[in-house]
This record gives sequence, C-alpha cells and structure tokens, in this order.
Amino acid sequence: MDIQNVLDNLKVRGFEPFYFENRQDAIDKIVSLVGEPTTIGFGGSMTIHELNVMDILEEKGHKIYSHSKVSPEERDHVYQLAQSAKFYISSTNALTEQGEFVNIDGAANRVTTFTFGVKNVIFVLGTNKIVPSVTKAIDRIRNYAAPKNCVRLKKNTPCATLGRCVNCNSDDCICNTTVISHHPTSKQDHVYVIIINEELGY
Ligand code: SF4
Repeated sequence: MDIQNVLDNLKVRGFEPFYFENRQDAIDKIVSLVGEPTTIGFGGSMTIHELNVMDILEEKGHKIYSHSKVSPEERDHVYQLAQSAKFYISSTNALTEQGEFVNIDGAANRVTTFTFGVKNVIFVLGTNKIVPSVTKAIDRIRNYAAPKNCVRLKKNTPCATLGRCVNCNSDDCICNTTVISHHPTSKQDHVYVIIINEELGY
C-alpha cells in the first residue's frame, strides 16, 4: 500500500488528510484542529478508545457527547446532541486506497451524523483499516470487524460464534445500513482524516 497515493486520492476527493508515524503527533493534531472549547460528538470506536482522545479533549474543556458516557435510557438524547455538535470524531470501518470511506452501522447514529448532522468531521484510523477496494472493505467489515464487535457488544448474532458473516436477519444484526462516502457532502465544511501508522481498532 502506497500511503502517499492514498493521501493524494483523499485530497482529490475534497477530504483533508494528515498522516502520522505515531499516535502522540496525531492526538496533538486532533487537539489543534478542534481548537477552542466547543461541542464534540463521538461514535462508538475502539480506535478512539485506544487513543484516549475523548478524555484528552474533555480535560481541555470541550463538551463531549458520547453514548459511552451515559445510561442506556439517555442514549437517544445523546445521539441527537452529537448530531448538532460542532465536531464529530469517529473512526471508519474501512478506507479504500482510492479514498472512499466504507461504514456499516446497526443503529445508523454514526453514519447519519458524519454524513449530514455535523459540519466538521474528523476520521481517525490506523493503516490497518486501509484496503484495496470497496469490495474488500465490505468483506473486511462483515468477516472481521463485525464479528469482533458483536462479541464485544454481546450481540446474539451468528457471526459472534462463527467469526464470519452469514448475512443474518437477526434482531441483533449490526449490519443494517452501509454507507460509502466518496466526497465530503455539500453540507460539510471540513472532513479531516487522521491516518496513523499503527494497528488501531478493528
Ligand atoms: S450481517 Fe449478521 S452475521 Fe453478518 S456480520 Fe453482520 S451481524 Fe454478523
């Protein structure tokens, strides 16, 4: 994988990519992109969790909207607050070498927020999530990331036990909607992309 080619393809599409060899430089960049204390929504993301970005930004005075910080009863309200925040920080399930983001959601709070709700988005990902094509991205999500997430989230889906996708119709399915982001949408001001040369999330 030629990272410069990926960065060039992202720029041509209108995304604003940055590449870092280590996580500390990446975190510093995220902090500087967000700037003065503001409102920030977060999606559920192991990458963000591993980088501790949420706590770092909260300590700097930002108001954080994340369902991971509230009770199950409060989650729908926090999803709405995240959709009206100034920034939204999320990982992506996959990024193609051509510069397209591929994401599959169960509740769609994440994909709807980063496609429409919020004007400034920061995608954060490790190089392990870069794949050659959309087809490979969907295969990676369905047969690698989703089974792991189903185990983590204690979902009653076939992949949680099989470790691979069988295109289930389960009530617990986390693959209810697939979104491919080719460009920032016409309503977005900035879609920053922070790529870190590490294995992060899944
Ligand atoms: S469609 Fe169902 S079986 Fe396939 S990865 Fe998603 S949750 Fe698992």
